[in-house]
Amino acid sequence: MSKKKVVVIGSGFGGLACAIRLQSAGLQVTLLEKRDKPGGRAYVYKQDGFTFDAGPTVITAPPCLEELFQLSGRELKDYVELLPVTPLYRLFWEDGFVFDYTNDVQKTLKQIEQVSPKDARRYLDFLSYTEEVFNEGYTKLAHVPFLDWWSMIRVAPQLMRLEAYRSVYSIVSKFIKEPHLRQAFSFHSLLVGGNPFSTSSIYTLIHYLERNWGVFFPRGGTGALLQGMLKLFQELGWPDTMQYGDSGNCHRK
Ligand SMILES: Cc1cc2nc3c(=O)[nH]c(=O)nc-3n(C[C@H](O)[C@H](O)[C@H](O)COP(=O)(O)OP(=O)(O)OC[C@H]3O[C@@H](n4cnc5c(N)ncnc54)[C@H](O)[C@@H]3O)c2cc1C
Repeated sequence: MSKKKVVVIGSGFGGLACAIRLQSAGLQVTLLEKRDKPGGRAYVYKQDGFTFDAGPTVITAPPCLEELFQLSGRELKDYVELLPVTPLYRLFWEDGFVFDYTNDVQKTLKQIEQVSPKDARRYLDFLSYTEEVFNEGYTKLAHVPFLDWWSMIRVAPQLMRLEAYRSVYSIVSKFIKEPHLRQAFSFHSLLVGGNPFSTSSIYTLIHYLERNWGVFFPRGGTGALLQGMLKLFQELGWPDTMQYGDSGNCHRK
């Protein structure tokens, strides 16, 4: 029996993951990419012997990647090595303030106490808040497609309760008063291109995500993860399952 044929448009992490899932489910997938190379926002530039990852650098949910490889009986670790990063971030301010952002609560509390003892107590409340947001926004909703108004309205009560209409910075400021700490706990939406002053507080779930799983960096850069996914995609398919365009630069034609 001939396989069902599917076309996936775009070879960013999203398109590539989708193509791998479909191929693992036994469909014949053609992946179309308008640029000259795959990756989308994770495009890799090479110049003068140097390699530059254009976008993402921080991996916060390795289980999602592990699951993707396991769908076809593979192991992520055979394709790319994810290195745990400690501290998760070291943040520097112009005035000399330095904060080691870790997923060790005691270490974090100690650092907060040094600048603002009141905030140390409230930090634990902030953690509980981010856990709740994670449970609602990630565990229950991350895989739900919002294709119409009804699907959005159905989840509105939970989102209202979590004050999702407030920005990341605004909700962090509800718990934390010291200005450096407010910035330290609200920069995460920048990772997905979101402004902390306007992005929904739902993105505080990244804080919980990182505390839960940690932060990882693929050995060789994000491009190495991309290559690992491409290798898997090609192993599951045929040599001509990927077609590229010729738009090699970032500018629109
Ligand atoms: C600077 C920056 C830093 C980031 N840092 C992180 C991070 O540290 N951690 C993290 O988890 N996330 C990070 N992100 C977010 C992450 O990069 C994106 O969420 C993810 O890469 C999006 O993947 P995607 O496949 O959905 O979209 P894209 O990567 O945008 O891919 C879409 C693809 O579709 C192609 N395409 C579009 N139209 C067509 C068409 N008509 N025909 C053919 N092809 C088409 C495009 O060329 C592109 O390759 C960062 C983003 C940026 C910009």
